[in-house]
Amino acid sequence: MTFYFTGIRSFPKLWKSNPYLGLGPGHSSLSVFLKDCYGIKNQEKWFSLKTVCPQNTKAMNLLVAKARYVRKKDEGSSKQVSADSHMFAAGAAKKRSQMNPLSKEHVLPPVKNIFQLPTKPLNSEEWDKLKEDFKEKANFENWIISQMIKCHSSVDVAKSVLAWVAAKNNGIVGYDLLVKYLYLCVFHKQTSEIIDVYEIMKARYKRLESGAYTLLIRGLIHTDRWREALLLLEDIKKVMIPSKKNYNDCIQGALFHQDVNVAWNLYQELLGHDIVPMLETLKAFFDFGKDMKGDQYSNKLQDILLYLRNNQLYPGESFAHSIKTWFESVPGEHWKGQFTTIQQSGQCLGCGKTVESIHLSSEEYEFLKEKIMRDVIDGGDQYKKTTPQELKRFQNFVKYHPPFDIVIDGLNVAKMFPKARESQVLLDVVSQLAKQNLQVLVLGRKHMLKQNSRWRKDDMEKVQKQASFFFADNISEDDPFLLYATLHSGNHCKFITKDLMRDHKACLPDAKTQRLFFKWQQGHQLAIVSKHPGSKVTFQHILIYDTVVQTTGDSWHIPYDDDVVERYSYEVPTKWLCLHRKT
Ligand SMILES: [Zn+2]
Repeated sequence: MTFYFTGIRSFPKLWKSNPYLGLGPGHSSLSVFLKDCYGIKNQEKWFSLKTVCPQNTKAMNLLVAKARYVRKKDEGSSKQVSADSHMFAAGAAKKRSQMNPLSKEHVLPPVKNIFQLPTKPLNSEEWDKLKEDFKEKANFENWIISQMIKCHSSVDVAKSVLAWVAAKNNGIVGYDLLVKYLYLCVFHKQTSEIIDVYEIMKARYKRLESGAYTLLIRGLIHTDRWREALLLLEDIKKVMIPSKKNYNDCIQGALFHQDVNVAWNLYQELLGHDIVPMLETLKAFFDFGKDMKGDQYSNKLQDILLYLRNNQLYPGESFAHSIKTWFESVPGEHWKGQFTTIQQSGQCLGCGKTVESIHLSSEEYEFLKEKIMRDVIDGGDQYKKTTPQELKRFQNFVKYHPPFDIVIDGLNVAKMFPKARESQVLLDVVSQLAKQNLQVLVLGRKHMLKQNSRWRKDDMEKVQKQASFFFADNISEDDPFLLYATLHSGNHCKFITKDLMRDHKACLPDAKTQRLFFKWQQGHQLAIVSKHPGSKVTFQHILIYDTVVQTTGDSWHIPYDDDVVERYSYEVPTKWLCLHRKT
């Protein structure tokens, strides 16, 4: 018998029974699956009936990572990574990792091909036969629809699976299958199907899990019934804080339907929960703003820019275009925007103005110093690797020396050039700095003083003549000593290490301190770019300007992320949007 599943409305029986709490065995993998396909956060303990199998998560993450890697590689080939002249430039870390043959990304196995999915709806006999071919799959129905999601199969084909399952099970279709079907409907923007599934779920279940809510919200915002998405958001709020994606969808729905007040209220609510909004949400306000006149809306958009500044966030390329377009659309203000870069001197190549300095004000410096002394050095785990006696010895050492200009992580610097002798590298670096009359402190380990092929005594004696030295026990961590000595010496003092000290950033107490640390690091960390035996050591220049959204009232300078450059969290963009008023 041929049984085509033509419309959900005509099969009300299909969705009956199957009590809500009796979700099928596939449920545990559902949230993981949707999370990866759809970016749904799996934070909702309230709804999870079973915990997610860690192996599944790992496998999924690997798949996602592979997919991402393949995509990035493709993009990279189409355009060259922009010039990075400093260590913190966007894309610089990626380049460094590509030079390293041991980089994890290069050992990923190739992605396996999956079998050819049906491209048109099948009848029950055909599905039966296919199931027979895949006997080894424990839950063929769930597996096949998951494959369809991966390949974005058409809604019709997925529907024929549901019809076949319903026919076999007295009209029962499991919750998992239904949600996965909803996923495909939302993906293909099949509005009427979305509304049908929504009606069925409303009738059948008192409450849904957040994956389904998220899909329904996303599906409904483009329909006349978009306000019902706000009700679903209220349902989520009864048990948890909605995700930034949920807020994004509702705000976009409100803007799309010209309800500006609802949109701003949702935005305020999101900020009230300390959620960092999606850049897409902020972009939507700018896109919609082109048709809005009046100071009120305009002031709110400027607040968004200040939010980016305070949270050290950078718009993406298309968001930057939206910001430019909005400024240029403000009547009577004559804004002109251009995409540009900043010179090493800190001058904008577009308008010639100098952007903000990287140097911390004395208040900022004192604040950061105090926090680091307290949280990283005294309280942090790092110092547990040293002894209180050694700490005291070091503090006294620093106290009885005049402030240093440069603090060097001796071991780390010596290992920068594997082919050269370690003591020779250290000597070359120290000699060059000493020639410039700089007060240099080298932090080292006791083992460096033992004569061997890597550490020669005569080299080390020369180093000690030109620099102060502190030798810690061989087991101590260098970083906290490095931070302590540099900060203790004052705002002018720089440091050299290859290490980017990300661990310390993580143990800093709050976002404000982390941002100041990042800014201080950019302005104070010297990097060595090259050294040939017997020749000069070349240092990378230190940024003297701060890469952050900034304004002078009649100008804005906004760093933004290039779409094709992958930027690590400790790097900053190199491209800027320069906006100024024509006078
Ligand atoms: Zn400019």
